[in-house]
Amino acid sequence: CSLLEVDSIFSVLSFASVPGVKRNVERKSSAGGLVTAVAPVVVECKGLWVGWPGIFAEDLPAHANKDALKIPESDPSDITPTAGLKSDQVVSVNVGKDIFNLYYNGCCNGTFWPLFHSMSDRAIFSAESWEAYAQVNTIFAEKTLEALRKVNETLTSDSPVPLVWIHDYHLMNAANIIRQRADEENLKCKLGFFLHIPFPPWDIFRLFPRDDEVLQGMLGCDMVGFHIEDYCLNFIDCCHRRLGCRVDRKAMLVEHGGRTVRVRPLPIGIPFERFVQMAKEAPQLLIKSGDQKLILGVDRLDYTKGLTHRLRAFERLLEKHPEYKEQVIFLQIAVPSRTDVKEYQDLKEELDQLVGAINGRFTTPNWSPIRYIYGCVSQDELAGFYREATIALVTPLRDGMNLVAKEFVACQINKPGVLVMSPFAGAGEMMHEALTVNPYELDDVAEALHRGLSMPEDEREVRMSHLRNRERIYNVDYWMKSFLKAMGSLIAEDGEEV
Ligand code: UDP
Repeated sequence: CSLLEVDSIFSVLSFASVPGVKRNVERKSSAGGLVTAVAPVVVECKGLWVGWPGIFAEDLPAHANKDALKIPESDPSDITPTAGLKSDQVVSVNVGKDIFNLYYNGCCNGTFWPLFHSMSDRAIFSAESWEAYAQVNTIFAEKTLEALRKVNETLTSDSPVPLVWIHDYHLMNAANIIRQRADEENLKCKLGFFLHIPFPPWDIFRLFPRDDEVLQGMLGCDMVGFHIEDYCLNFIDCCHRRLGCRVDRKAMLVEHGGRTVRVRPLPIGIPFERFVQMAKEAPQLLIKSGDQKLILGVDRLDYTKGLTHRLRAFERLLEKHPEYKEQVIFLQIAVPSRTDVKEYQDLKEELDQLVGAINGRFTTPNWSPIRYIYGCVSQDELAGFYREATIALVTPLRDGMNLVAKEFVACQINKPGVLVMSPFAGAGEMMHEALTVNPYELDDVAEALHRGLSMPEDEREVRMSHLRNRERIYNVDYWMKSFLKAMGSLIAEDGEEV
């Protein structure tokens, strides 16, 4: 934001992370892309970050005061873990354990996560967890309204309108609550929402019994952003068919409650240069020897990522192409995720067994085909793996975007490798130079692996340089600014809205 300035008041609602507070994070990389991108803007605009702290008030020792749920004061130049935010810029929303369980494990991850990834058979519908969802969204909305009231007291006639940016499927109802209350109380605000997962087609979305309320919740915004155009069109279609809204598919507009809501595809990027730097600094890996080639998979252990299909496809490669014996290593990093949920425990079991079976079948005294890390690797370390890999195997069955594919190409600073990519991830939309494979079709994936492993260097170079150039331009800062621009909240130096 050196040349461009953002409206002075800026507040972010994000369920998953109050930067610097949450201690039991799943990943070692303390600040994810979102925090790293958005927090500096919140700092610059003296805005607020409203989020869940990652700990329960009832778990604190009796003598602890509520400040224990706030972030510690940090060095302002520190981007992680507090991302430069001061403690008075963070509003912790505290949720009791019981309601949390119904809300987070129940409605968010038991219903919306599978449904929005078009895996409706896995979705559980429960009125009780929906109640909890509505309740938690109301708590977030109320916290934001408290801040909005204070901000509105200080506004003058030429002040920019305060902006609230709401993130992800955990908070799809908050905007409508804020909008209604703000209208009643004459509070000025602009509301924007970004969904980080796919938005499903109408015939999947309609399976959720309270689908109308979810749409109305999101339509409380002035602008709703999704990663790709398909998700935007799905959302517009649902608004039209379920709520009878007038829509303009070409201009991506939805009319609702006397207002026009803009819908925009805004694909998120990565901090490209940071990954290049990490790849330069990562030490040499000892995982492969001689001319051995590395195939790499990096995922949270989640059923949407297609991990069992992927392992079977690698097995198929070894069956069909015995020439790769002792010549390739497949490294799969699987980050533990939602480990208290049975479905995820079962998937881990299945993966453990599959890795054992494939290794048992093909291992020689000098070589095991699969290396499997069930754990979390820091992004500095990950950059080394990305750099050394000949192939990144990114084959989710469904994925909102997939940052791993982007991080891999950023880190390919030496001999270029090949990206093998599922078209069912948002990232697949734009990474045209990848080898596209249907993750369900094991022979197809095995053949793409063979093609990638045997691809001539000049072809790899051309493909990789296009992939890298695109990610360098459309990085996470670009995404951030695109969102603010679409909200009309990015002010050029001369004061004009851009
Ligand atoms: N990641 C990490 N350590 C690991 C594995 C993954 O920090 O051991 C990070 C990775 O760098 C990426 C993110 O986790 O930024 C995964 O994002 P993606 O969009 O691919 O999948 P998600 O987990 O959000 O569904």
